[in-house]
Amino acid sequence: MKVDLASLLRPHLLTLKPYTSARDEYSGSEGVFLDANENPFGSITQANYNRYPDPYQSALKSEIAQIKGCAPTQIFLGNGSDEAIDLLFRAFCNPGKDNVILLPPTYGMYGVSASINNVEIRNVALTPDFQLQPEKILAAADTQTKILFICSPNNPSGNAAKREDIQYLLENFSGIVVVDEAYIDFSSEPSLIHELDQYPNLLVMQTFSKAWGLASLRLGMAFASPELIAILNQIKPPYNISGLTQETVLAALPNKGKVEELIQKIKEERTFLKQELEKLPAVLKIHPSDANFLLVQVPDANRFYEGLIEEKVIVRNRSTVLHCEGCLRITVGTQDETLALLQAFKKIATY
Ligand SMILES: *Cc1c(COP(=O)(O)O)cnc(C)c1O
Repeated sequence: MKVDLASLLRPHLLTLKPYTSARDEYSGSEGVFLDANENPFGSITQANYNRYPDPYQSALKSEIAQIKGCAPTQIFLGNGSDEAIDLLFRAFCNPGKDNVILLPPTYGMYGVSASINNVEIRNVALTPDFQLQPEKILAAADTQTKILFICSPNNPSGNAAKREDIQYLLENFSGIVVVDEAYIDFSSEPSLIHELDQYPNLLVMQTFSKAWGLASLRLGMAFASPELIAILNQIKPPYNISGLTQETVLAALPNKGKVEELIQKIKEERTFLKQELEKLPAVLKIHPSDANFLLVQVPDANRFYEGLIEEKVIVRNRSTVLHCEGCLRITVGTQDETLALLQAFKKIATY
């Protein structure tokens, strides 16, 4: 749907004067830099950590743009996806007035961020097989509804949403539609990044925390129209991505081939884990997964969860979450880790 970003934006931001850093005013790399109150010596030799990093991460964005097939101006980089989520609330949701739509069971950070920002949450449940209910979602929206969060593949269920449902919502929801694709690399579904030009109200989130194996670096990506990306850039902290993170991810990007291999390996391990769990009578159901984890139903989730911890195997107990009665969320690990899980599981099933 064609959305008027200026009318969705919180009004006081229309006239915001963003912070301009020393590095905004002069962007050359040669010179005597006495503009940012940095220490000229530093405390780690052979690293330029004494200097502030590029606030717009230009080198990194131009490489990511190549890999993702979009323009650098369509990319926002955040200190994890969590920063992008928070900035969306701060840009578009007037506290105590506006609302957002969440689709439980889903990723917890949308709701936490909404609460921190004092923004009303309207929950529209997924179906028991974790699919969207587009008509109910549209019926829950009013003129104060600013953002709809769709997680696909969904955490904690693992499945991808039906493409036609997402498209229907992009065409009919009159706010911003966030599609969180943190797990897209493990899915057979294509990314919606390729549809950005078609849907000005679409924002796709991805992350370096999962398929790229760089969770500790904290680097999340948001892809949207250059206008929407410009809004996030205006309100972000100036140096939100450390120089260390920028350099390290830049150095990791040429390993894309290796990452593809690892994704393949994780998908094979997911199949193995599923096959082995299916053989166990204590396993009542394994939900279909497009992600790097399985949602597994057992007769007594608390007992299995505690028993696994006794065996030093840690999984996530999701049994109190809507439609997830009796369910544990199990991340796909290495083959050794899978074997350790299975052994512990069998032990618990016998007592
Ligand atoms: C893991 C995960 C992320 C990643 O968050 P980061 O802050 O980038 O590490 C985002 N969305 C969902 C649904 C996730 O499960």
